Amino acid sequence: MKITVYSLRDDEKEVLEKQKEKLQVEIEQTQEEPSLENVDLLNGCQGVSVLGQTMIGKELLDAWKEKGIQYISTRTIGYNHIDVDYARKIGLRVCNANYAPNGVADFTIMMILMSLRNYKQALWRGQVNDYSLFGLRGREMRSLTIGVMGTGRIGQTVLKSLRGFGCRLIAYDVYQNDETKKYAEYLPLEEFYKQADVISLHMPLLDSTKYIINSKSIQQMKDQVIIINCARGELVDLDAVIEGIESCKIGALGLDVVEGEEGITHMDHRVDIIANQKMAYLRQFRNVIMTPHMAFYTEEAVESMMECGIAGILEMSEKEKGSTEIVR
Ligand code: NAD
Repeated sequence: MKITVYSLRDDEKEVLEKQKEKLQVEIEQTQEEPSLENVDLLNGCQGVSVLGQTMIGKELLDAWKEKGIQYISTRTIGYNHIDVDYARKIGLRVCNANYAPNGVADFTIMMILMSLRNYKQALWRGQVNDYSLFGLRGREMRSLTIGVMGTGRIGQTVLKSLRGFGCRLIAYDVYQNDETKKYAEYLPLEEFYKQADVISLHMPLLDSTKYIINSKSIQQMKDQVIIINCARGELVDLDAVIEGIESCKIGALGLDVVEGEEGITHMDHRVDIIANQKMAYLRQFRNVIMTPHMAFYTEEAVESMMECGIAGILEMSEKEKGSTEIVR
């Protein structure tokens, strides 16, 4: 088996070396993002490993198919950057990574606490020796209702960790599960919006979840609601949340991901022009925390992402089911 690993970061190299040795696979590796210009890297390969910052659409999939690629593995949990339906149509199998949800869950709780305690403002003020308390008064978790939308692996872990804070926990999902029922009360969406002081999003980006947070849904929420998005940017309509912040309907926003982040996050743009007006506008608000898609980024997850990435290709090849599906 020969695999090309695209978008290799320096911090992934050591794990990749270990995987090569352990699994006896031949690896072609590059820091380049996948593109039509570098398909020649795939000569003799059956598998491709990618990250999440490049869209893998029809043209690229056709070019990969022509090169003899059979298996695509993304080292991320989310797989919305791959046209999975088209891959299936042309007979390519795709899998995603199933690394532990704890890193993202921890980060989510940090975002909730930072938002509740106005920590961004306190941090900024400290830079200019302003140690005043004005405007920094926060709220305590024990007095609040925290709502999780999307109660899969990450959402459940967030709820489990939140138990210790003494807050009331509510949940919404299109498929309810028993594990979540141990920690939280499922509510219909309208009721969920009505009752939550904090809403944290943990569903995948699908046609049905795109812009699920929009003007209409925000109007159904409590005044001063806090919205946290550590899932995918496109779950949130940025025009609607900008309007919500400007009108003070939204009390705070914590965004680890934002629509149009591709080509911006995970790169140093100190001397560039960043062409994403909504992102630039939002980040100046005292009550909007924006982080560069880093909720996943822990020592444990980086190691596991690469392991899942390579092992996923080998598993697909071993199973040889003859059908294309997300297997992880
Ligand atoms: P998961 O598949 O285990 O859970 C997703 C849940 O969302 C499922 O329970 C599903 O039923 C639910 N869902 C689907 N459609 C819904 C809808 N319309 N309304 C409510 N719920 C709906 O996924 P996971 O491992 O918990 O990951 C969730 C998402 O987090 C991923 O898809 C990925 O996009 C994102 N993520 C972000 C980072 C980061 O660094 N910021 C890292 C990892 C994952």
